[in-house]
Amino acid sequence: MAVEDSTLQVVVRVRPPTPRELDSQRRPVVQVVDERVLVFNPEEADGGFPGLKWGGTHDGPKKKGKDLTFVFDRVFGEAATQQDVFQHTTHSVLDSFLQGYNCSVFAYGATGAGKTHTMLGREGDPGIMYLTTVELYRRLEARQQEKRFEVLISYQEVYNEQIHDLLEPKGPLAIREDPDKGVVVQGLSFHQPASAKQLLEMLTRGNRNRTQHPTDANATSSRSHAIFQIFVKQQDRVPGLTQAVQVAKMSLIDLAGSERASSTHAKGERLREGANINRSLLALINVLNALADAKGRKTHVPYRDSKLTRLLKDSLGGNCRTVMIAAISPSSLTYEDTYNTLKYADRAKEI
Ligand code: ADP
Ligand code: MG
Repeated sequence: MAVEDSTLQVVVRVRPPTPRELDSQRRPVVQVVDERVLVFNPEEADGGFPGLKWGGTHDGPKKKGKDLTFVFDRVFGEAATQQDVFQHTTHSVLDSFLQGYNCSVFAYGATGAGKTHTMLGREGDPGIMYLTTVELYRRLEARQQEKRFEVLISYQEVYNEQIHDLLEPKGPLAIREDPDKGVVVQGLSFHQPASAKQLLEMLTRGNRNRTQHPTDANATSSRSHAIFQIFVKQQDRVPGLTQAVQVAKMSLIDLAGSERASSTHAKGERLREGANINRSLLALINVLNALADAKGRKTHVPYRDSKLTRLLKDSLGGNCRTVMIAAISPSSLTYEDTYNTLKYADRAKEI
């Protein structure tokens, strides 16, 4: 099957080392081999890989010296730009989206691995949420002669199993399932940004409204899932005929940090909620695992177990197109997190 045809694509993005990682007596544990292959924990053969030595020695992670080769739909090294990532992820599902399929794109990984950078980006270097919306507008404008369309965006957060509107903050919002409209978050605000600049401002403002952990300044937004959604309604412009309206939804999600979930899910077991584990993240992992096990067969998919999976019920599995972007750091400082993220991403390929 061609990559574009499969319902789930799994890609990995390795971010550049931070100054701290470069300074510390640590070494890189990830080697990008080519566009689809990476090796985890490459051993320092004679002289090591060219340019791979940041100085210092092995800091003693477990499974020392065990090289593991992983193959994904795409691997992005530290030099990859936002545009590169966009071109090979969301861009490839835009066609399906315009044909009416719901799509979802997740950034998965530990805190600090590069999820928010990939999805939201930073000033002067916007990420996938922005690039996708701008490209979508461009495509719809090119089809304006044939189609009438409407685009609405929303931006919400799941934090501590509560849904909050990030664009018009108010109390927690309830979800319900509407027989016609599908999943509905009651009271969520929808917007039509008038320009690319306004869109960028909305994204930045929404991100500032994300909940931060009260006692841990470093854990900014690490427990919150930020969900940016684009709704497109299309109708053919044919005089004299009533045309069916087609509606599709694209969900772009900056997930909570996976570090607390990793040690358990690495084993590929069904997960139970633990005191410190993010329920929505676990539920998402379980839903994806169930879809992987199901492979077309009828299996119970536990969408109802969390707010996040209830929200995404109509955007996962079935005819939906899904892209998972696994974000990892290259440093041995985060060896375990990286290993767990790669193992999970590898498992997700089976869907
Ligand atoms: P996460 O959202 O997964 O916790 P961030 O996206 O906030 O992680 O990334 C952690 C830090 O690394 C941030 O300072 C971010 O700007 C930087 N960073 C992440 N990915 C990249 C990248 N591809 N290029 C440059 N800097 C990056
Ligand atoms: Mg983040």
